[in-house]
Amino acid sequence: MGSVAALRRVKNAIAVARAVLEHTEHTLLVGDQATAFAIAMGFTNESLTSDWSRESHLKWRQNNCQPNYWRAVTPDPQKSCGPYKPLSLKKKSSDHLQQRRTHLVDRTHHDTIGAVAIDAQGRIASGTSTNGATHKIPGRVGDSPIVGAGSYCDQEVGGAAATGDGDVILRYLVSYQAVENMRRGMAPEAAAKEVLGRIPAKFPTAQIGLVVVSAKTGAYAASCLNIVGGFPYVVGVAPGGVQNKTAKCIG
Ligand code: ASP
Repeated sequence: MGSVAALRRVKNAIAVARAVLEHTEHTLLVGDQATAFAIAMGFTNESLTSDWSRESHLKWRQNNCQPNYWRAVTPDPQKSCGPYKPLSLKKKSSDHLQQRRTHLVDRTHHDTIGAVAIDAQGRIASGTSTNGATHKIPGRVGDSPIVGAGSYCDQEVGGAAATGDGDVILRYLVSYQAVENMRRGMAPEAAAKEVLGRIPAKFPTAQIGLVVVSAKTGAYAASCLNIVGGFPYVVGVAPGGVQNKTAKCIG
């Protein structure tokens, strides 16, 4: 495995992750040093700002930085852009920690591509690549670069890849758990539903999509939480081409 997080100024993060896999004995490189590694490996250092991203950021600032991921800070993060200072949390209430106010509300707020593939020799691989969550706090690492959260695979069992609310996906190691469910005998659909089914009790509105593939049989399934209209995914079987599918959400 190989991954990069908080990579800046380099396109095609998943290719840099692959370079970590192929050219190092490490697992995860982050931040400016990940960028330096990428440049040493021949990637281009370039601005990733687009007209769309510049305009979207400007509009967000004009709208007092709403929505955002801050809480328990002053000034009120629901009204202002900060800079913030922490509010003291004298009252030991876990209610506060369970509130999740900011959600990835539509397609423009997230962009993960996740994939699980089995080659002609039956070898399985998985990967994810993402910009993360729009308007995240700088430095935030989501699920995608964390193997076991954003994706996971095991030659003996199968693979999984997730998209959606990475801060929640990380807490359940969704991809790892789906593969472990298959290791314990579940088919891909049951494996996906079991792990997603754990989440609504604590995070009833989290949006998550998950694909799961068995390495033994090639069987696959997808499932989701809170994605209006279901979770679109694509299945390709060589040499037959690709099929677009939509998974129904369980919640
Ligand atoms: N999972 C990604 C993240 O939270 C977002 C996405 O799926 O697009 O970083």
